[in-house]
Amino acid sequence: MKQAQRLKAVRYDIRGPVLRRAQQMEDAGHQIIKLNIGNPAPWGLATPEPIMADVVHNLGSATGYSDARGIYSARVAVAHKYQIQGATDVQPEDVMLGNGVSELIVMCLQALLDTGDEVLVPSPDYPLWTGAVSLCGGRAVHYRCDEGNGWQPDLEDLASRITPDTRAMVIINPNNPTGAVYSREVLEGMLDIARRHGLLVFADEIYDQIIYDRAVHHTAAALAPDVPMISMGGLSKTHRAAGFRSGWLAITGFGPQDTDYIEGLQLLANMRLCPNVPAQHAIQTALGGYQSINALVTPGGRLYEQREHAWRMLTEIPGVECFKPEGALYLFARLDPAVHKIHDDERLIIDLLESKQLLLSHGTGFNIDTPDHLRVVFLAPVDILDDAIGRLRSFLATYRQ
Ligand code: PLP
Repeated sequence: MKQAQRLKAVRYDIRGPVLRRAQQMEDAGHQIIKLNIGNPAPWGLATPEPIMADVVHNLGSATGYSDARGIYSARVAVAHKYQIQGATDVQPEDVMLGNGVSELIVMCLQALLDTGDEVLVPSPDYPLWTGAVSLCGGRAVHYRCDEGNGWQPDLEDLASRITPDTRAMVIINPNNPTGAVYSREVLEGMLDIARRHGLLVFADEIYDQIIYDRAVHHTAAALAPDVPMISMGGLSKTHRAAGFRSGWLAITGFGPQDTDYIEGLQLLANMRLCPNVPAQHAIQTALGGYQSINALVTPGGRLYEQREHAWRMLTEIPGVECFKPEGALYLFARLDPAVHKIHDDERLIIDLLESKQLLLSHGTGFNIDTPDHLRVVFLAPVDILDDAIGRLRSFLATYRQ
């Protein structure tokens, strides 16, 4: 049986051959350190207790379908979150829940794109964005994020990529894989470009509470209430509940002329009936109380200390440089081509896996052009990071392609 022709254009390499090889090795009994996925709970970063209690409490009444947009109490909580963050116009009617941000990304693009439509996507990106644009018949046009400038988007490059076919701009802030948190100036510049060219903005802000040091996260919808925008977030990272598949979107800046798109989105929401109902009950409690993620991202907190440790160890490896992330859960390290001559970074990751039982992700899987980066997830405790980055160091010391 053949797969659909449409899928031939879809790239989602970070879960491709590398992961298949890791699964084969695990099936054969190998123990692998897996620093390839931003999934907090397996590393002992537990979902906060009140959220679990609320889900359990509501389980008995959560066995039927809900409103296709999601339960009202959760949509009110999401609207309040955006209001508090400065997007004061967001109402529960503007909120839709989904089975994680992943489902909402696909739905939002399906509702927008016709064949050949273009979407501006950052390079590097969380690759679901590029893959989903292709799946929907569109073309992902990558704009440059500047490693030399803390991976901030390059506004000139962004503007130069707009054509008559451009429909939308994706902003991932904080960014996965780079950990960049966009400055207010850069973000306003991006939103101004969208405004001037009539582009719909997709603001993926799933890491908005995972911010280190003195970085400040600016909510895009608050900076540009007049620009048509779909902001997205969820419980997977900030509340360590990736398995719940609990995400949301908030619609802002739409005028009467844009209702056709919203109707399309609603059609798709209706067709998938509703998101997982027990997980929707987590949202009000999660967003209402003290955000326990704060204790993890400040000095002494696990994520803060793990980032410090992993970043220090990585940058001590000869020929490895790395921007110190200001947000999210990742280190996107560069292998200096003068020291490490890598032609195929996916091959490097498979060779590393096979020789050191360590699983990382290759940079080109995040849609960059050059095979000279790799991503390390720093969710593991310090002793495991120590072991893992030690293995990477000894691997690179002799590795040649
Ligand atoms: N957006 C970004 C930038 C991500 O990094 C991820 C997961 O890693 C997602 C969306 C998917 O999140 P969810 O678990 O809500 O589907």
